[in-house]
Amino acid sequence: MDRYKITSGSKFQLSDIDPDDTSLFDGGKKEGRKVLDEELNPRLEELQDLLYAEGKRRVLIVLQGMDTSGKDGVIRGVFNAVDPLGIRVASFKVPTAEELAHDYLWRIHKQVPGNGEIVIFNRSHYEDVLVVRVHKIVPKAVWSRRYDQINEFEKTLTDTGTKVVKFFLHISKDEQKARLEERRDTPEKRWKFSLGDLEERKLWDDYQVAYQDVIRKTSTDWAPWHVIPANAKWYRNWVIANVLVETLESLDMKYPPAPKGAETAVIE
Ligand code: AMP
Ligand code: MG
Repeated sequence: MDRYKITSGSKFQLSDIDPDDTSLFDGGKKEGRKVLDEELNPRLEELQDLLYAEGKRRVLIVLQGMDTSGKDGVIRGVFNAVDPLGIRVASFKVPTAEELAHDYLWRIHKQVPGNGEIVIFNRSHYEDVLVVRVHKIVPKAVWSRRYDQINEFEKTLTDTGTKVVKFFLHISKDEQKARLEERRDTPEKRWKFSLGDLEERKLWDDYQVAYQDVIRKTSTDWAPWHVIPANAKWYRNWVIANVLVETLESLDMKYPPAPKGAETAVIE
């Protein structure tokens, strides 16, 4: 799954990865979903159980992407077999007054995983170099220093036992149009439709530049980005599940020893 992992980011171009790509899986949508449901998601469930039982490691998953890119869809589609006890989702919206009264990492740091926990960030500290940059919410002199600060922050998390796994869900502008139209035209999805999303869509090119810079400047040895082709939802989920299974397997976790006497304990 290293195909989509960005290790040396400095020359990365978003155009290096085709949002329509499905080339790592030959079987097509139906078979891809089956593998996800029957193999990858149950395997993730086992690995999460082990992580929770071991209680030593922490996993932080960062999801970023344009509106409609499928951040919620990944959470539903990839983690549906996982025990809710060991997993938590943190969604980052427009900062509150209290959050704005602190440094931008304050609200983020409060939500990082503890021992044995997987936390999924639905949006993240990266908004502070994305929406904040595109909308000029703070001057360039302020946001441009954040890449280094973010790298340092993620280094600190990594050095203290947190595995940081970052995904950018890469969709095309045409795909976003189709998904917004579907939201508009489907009664059960219309609640998600926001006129604000149409304003954001006008800034598509600015966002793509900002995302490309994020990936260039914050793909580090300790926390590389994975740029996931996300026009095909089944493929997006299949790739992400594979990356997570590989990542969790690489932690080489072990169930803790049973408490003394557990094996021979008599239960009356
Ligand atoms: P959604 O994820 O669709 O619920 O939307 C959340 C909104 O909050 C998005 O428009 C984000 O761009 C916005 N948002 C998240 N973090 C920040 C931030 N640090 N500054 C400004 N807006 C933000
Ligand atoms: Mg939205």
